[in-house]
Amino acid sequence: MPQKSAYRGRLAPSPTGLLHLGHAHTFLVAAQRAQQNDGTLILRNEDLDPQRSKAEFASAMLEDLQWLGIRWSEGPDRGGHFAPYSQSERREHYLNAWRKLRDQGAIYPCTCSRKDLAQSASAPNDSDDEPIYPGRCRSRTDAASFDEPAGVNWRFRVPHNEPIRFTDLHLGPQSFVAGRDFGDFIIWRRDDVPAYQLAVVVDDNAMQITEVVRGADLLKSTARQLLLYRALGDSPPDFYHCDLVLDNSGVRLAKRHDSLSLRHLRETGCSPAEVLHRATLS
Ligand SMILES: [Zn+2]
Repeated sequence: MPQKSAYRGRLAPSPTGLLHLGHAHTFLVAAQRAQQNDGTLILRNEDLDPQRSKAEFASAMLEDLQWLGIRWSEGPDRGGHFAPYSQSERREHYLNAWRKLRDQGAIYPCTCSRKDLAQSASAPNDSDDEPIYPGRCRSRTDAASFDEPAGVNWRFRVPHNEPIRFTDLHLGPQSFVAGRDFGDFIIWRRDDVPAYQLAVVVDDNAMQITEVVRGADLLKSTARQLLLYRALGDSPPDFYHCDLVLDNSGVRLAKRHDSLSLRHLRETGCSPAEVLHRATLS
């Protein structure tokens, strides 16, 4: 067999529901890019949220992706050099990163209640769901007194007014301003769950991912994550953000799970080829 290139891409579904047509588009692009680059595609099960992740959705997502004809060579079902591939089994990696950030003062404990935040936070200026944190706990200096992250929210201290620029491989040059486009974001939740931003950076780095393919709704998260890469002393991968799939009335397909779930399409007689066609057209 010819040697694989150094390209490493990933599929990173969350088992919090059934995969649908909007997801299929992103996964298809990820699979195509890995193939075009003669690279390795891995599957990571992003099951960190114990409330929302369900084992039946985890098995359904593997099955649905396989049904679509997407193949990966490392994953929870296949093992691999960077196992485990389920985030719920990777806590030690996230804890190491938390300690590193704590020790350098890059994060601080935040005890603001939801009510505090609702009263003072400025509303997000676009569809990004995280309001800009007003900074009430930002001056706290007691991070070092915590041996464990549990019990408070941990926020990353973003460098206010610093422009964060990167060139997306699909969407071109991007620019965000820290503190204005996004505020001090949570990297570890008070219920002791590592936040998406931290887990993804730690895993993409540990799994030696060279290119991240995901939806354009995560562009701003990429700016946040670039700050985490820098704080952790790691080099970021390349980013390729896919266009979001909209229906005829301009609503994101991701918001309409049921009728367009791959499971439903399959059960109503849609073939993988038809689904791929629809996912590619959209
Ligand atoms: Zn606070």
